[in-house]
Amino acid sequence: MTDSYEDLLKKAYTNITGTAATTERFTVPTARVFIEGKTTILENFGEIASTLRRDPDHLMKHLLGELGTAGKTDGTRAVFNGKFDTDQINAIIRGYVEDYVICSECGKPDTRLVKDTRILTLRCDACGGHRPVRKRRVQAEADPNKLTEGAVLDVTIQFLSKRGDGVVKLGRYTMYVANAKPGQTVKVRITRIAGSIAFTERAA
Ligand SMILES: [Zn+2]
Repeated sequence: MTDSYEDLLKKAYTNITGTAATTERFTVPTARVFIEGKTTILENFGEIASTLRRDPDHLMKHLLGELGTAGKTDGTRAVFNGKFDTDQINAIIRGYVEDYVICSECGKPDTRLVKDTRILTLRCDACGGHRPVRKRRVQAEADPNKLTEGAVLDVTIQFLSKRGDGVVKLGRYTMYVANAKPGQTVKVRITRIAGSIAFTERAA
């Protein structure tokens, strides 16, 4: 009827090693992206959200904010208005993993997002560490259509231009950041806006 002590031990052990094994093998699935008409399809969106063990809505909101576009989920796929490339979407997902998944103390992905007195906190089940989730992107997401010269903001480089500058697409703007690599987050000051092009310099 009831499990013997040995069975319980065995069960507990299996659970522990199961968790550990998951941690060791944690790899973020590469985005499978293709263009369909005027939209971009992220085919394995559901798989990515479940691997990261994050709320699909949260991940989707982040993707939309970073891409500066509208879109929807469609079953396990995500559909974005506009054409985006695979590198860009992978860079955004890497940024998401850094900010919302990986523990900054132990580097493990065994974390949960917990809302603590209105502050979103990343709690780690592996080491017990916790930190507030960086809010830096929220500002940029708040109103991507109103960039002003002199504004300072944190941006994550999405891809490289042909000239080798980091590029960030933010709302209707394309922002260029010198000496920055895709996936890297940097603080920049907008020095000049020309149409939809924003020129920047590094801010301290
Ligand atoms: Zn940790």
